[in-house]
Amino acid sequence: MVSFKELGLVNTREMFAKAIKGGYAIPAFNFNNMEQLQAIIKAAAETKSPVILQVSKGARNYANQTLLRYMAQGAVEYAKELGWENPQICLHLDHGDSFELCKSCVDFGFSSVMIDGSALPYEENIALTKQVVEYAHKYDVTVEAELGVLAGVEDEVQSEESHYTKPEEVIDFATRTGCDSLAISIGTSHGAYKFKPEQCTRDPKTGRLVPPPLAFDVLDAVMEKLPGFPIVLHGSSSVPQEYVDMINSYGGKLPDAVGIPEEQLRQASKSAVCKINIDSDSRLAFTAAVRKVFAENPGEFDPRKYCGPARDLMTELYKHKIINVLGSDGKA
Ligand SMILES: [Zn+2]
Repeated sequence: MVSFKELGLVNTREMFAKAIKGGYAIPAFNFNNMEQLQAIIKAAAETKSPVILQVSKGARNYANQTLLRYMAQGAVEYAKELGWENPQICLHLDHGDSFELCKSCVDFGFSSVMIDGSALPYEENIALTKQVVEYAHKYDVTVEAELGVLAGVEDEVQSEESHYTKPEEVIDFATRTGCDSLAISIGTSHGAYKFKPEQCTRDPKTGRLVPPPLAFDVLDAVMEKLPGFPIVLHGSSSVPQEYVDMINSYGGKLPDAVGIPEEQLRQASKSAVCKINIDSDSRLAFTAAVRKVFAENPGEFDPRKYCGPARDLMTELYKHKIINVLGSDGKA
């Protein structure tokens, strides 16, 4: 048993309280390799933004859970080395799907876990979430739950269609489970193909897909039921067209990739939405940078020569999100 406090990490409680009061959101960036972690920490340290490092079940399988935990511990020290005196870094399990997995993360030094029972019948979601909350709170680890189903694919999480969160259920759910934050479904979606072309309209000037707007009425209704309660948005990558274009022009094939417009996320950040999950955008930045190097210099075979530019582009992306979308710069 290792406490997150020994690792220099923080849970989400204070982060979220401040974010709601201050009208900004905390970035939750997924990571599964060293370059991503370096980029996240560098961006957070340079902008003095609190940050949530997210590890999915898929990332645990890919990178090894022991290694990821020590990487997070190293991230705290790296942040200090970069001149961030009091780093506000949370290590969070993304989409935990069982009590055992959540418990193992709590025991392993995570400061926050998500239990995603959103695919279960309502009462079963409550029972599972409550079980995780009871265990995690003993160790001061915060718990995110989910109500409503998101469409899209992300690691093992996938669903054909989305079901918006029912605002009439949130008081009962939050009270009975004791969860610290709630992921809701208002039209965001996992992956780089958030909407099918038939769900979108096309911008006549650029020919690009314009996605349907988020259901801000559902968000407003949830906030009215649970004033001041931390709300989380998953699947909130914007799928920047510049990266998609870069990938496509250097031999890739991502037709009609589409995300959530940043303007809508900016609007959400100012509300009780205090955690916004971004994963696909950094995958796109990484891939775009690597493809560019390979296209321009097919003889390159030193991984530092293509992972380095990928890391730089991801750092730029994370800083952009922090400063221009979430507004969390200068808050830690
Ligand atoms: Zn998610």
